[in-house]
Amino acid sequence: MLSIGQTQIKLLEKLCNAMGVSGDEGEVRRIVLEEVKPYADEVKVDALGSVLVRKNGTGRKPLRVQIDAHMDEVGFMIVHDDGNGFYQFQIVGGIDERHLVGKQVIVGKDHAVGVIGAKPIHLTTVEERKHTIDVDAMRIDLGPEGKAKVGDRATFATKFKRVGPSIMSKAIDDRIGVAILIELLKNAPKHIELCLSFSVQEEIGLRGAKVAGYYFKPDLAIAVDSTPARDLPDYEGRENYTYNTKLGLGPAIYTAHSPIISDPRLVKFLEETALKNKITHQFRQPGGGGTNAGAIQEAHAGVPVVSVSVPHRYTHSPVSVSRVDDWKNTLNLLLCALNDMTPNLLKR
Ligand SMILES: [Zn+2]
Repeated sequence: MLSIGQTQIKLLEKLCNAMGVSGDEGEVRRIVLEEVKPYADEVKVDALGSVLVRKNGTGRKPLRVQIDAHMDEVGFMIVHDDGNGFYQFQIVGGIDERHLVGKQVIVGKDHAVGVIGAKPIHLTTVEERKHTIDVDAMRIDLGPEGKAKVGDRATFATKFKRVGPSIMSKAIDDRIGVAILIELLKNAPKHIELCLSFSVQEEIGLRGAKVAGYYFKPDLAIAVDSTPARDLPDYEGRENYTYNTKLGLGPAIYTAHSPIISDPRLVKFLEETALKNKITHQFRQPGGGGTNAGAIQEAHAGVPVVSVSVPHRYTHSPVSVSRVDDWKNTLNLLLCALNDMTPNLLKR
């Protein structure tokens, strides 16, 4: 079984602090390329910018397995320069506008530090405080020397932190998946053809993975992502019986989510693998949110797919929180599954 040590934490920190807002994933891509090149038989950056990696398998026709994680994160795009360091922006991906006012952000290739301006409480009325502020009325304030360009991306300025058993970052979704894929490549079993897609533009419609599925034409695919855990007490202080995943309960295996029903053979195989290896795991309960499995499933004549995610709290906010143990258990479940996989898995 693999463990999470300083090397893995340092790499995740680097990945999380990089900016990779959808459509502009270059910073993350550079880190991924550097990490995968020594271990891969083929590395390619496709037309959209995804990194596609192949590790050949032994035997005449090894099982071709695609594992996907998305490099992009939600964030913002500068759309207008108002002068004096004020910039209009739009949200890229799903972010709740209520999370925005008063937050520090980084903008553009140089990570220029700015703030999403907020009217102070002293100057607002009770009525104003009851309502969300529309994003069109907000500005990113870079100060009088600010030099952003229209089209520049921005994201929350939060830096990665390890706090005891927890990790906190703006981009656990889905840099934790990216880190897991890199580790799987380094420990890849020889008997399968391992195809890794570090895909772009998941947060705005699963676009990179769709192309990657066509490129690899896999026998089966697994999307590795980070999923919202709504496991806090509800606002009335009662126990929350309707959580979808919980921190600390290990990898969340999906039986279904909005764009797919997972292939039951793969769900069963993952569960059996977890039980055999005594890996803590959970089944994700239904609810919003999809993964790249939905896009890969529809490549060519169809691909059997399943999703496995590391749970985190506070999705698409300035900081999400995950547990190191859930990361480790997800990595080991996937590694054990790859080690045990044979073409028989797909026999009907
Ligand atoms: Zn994600």
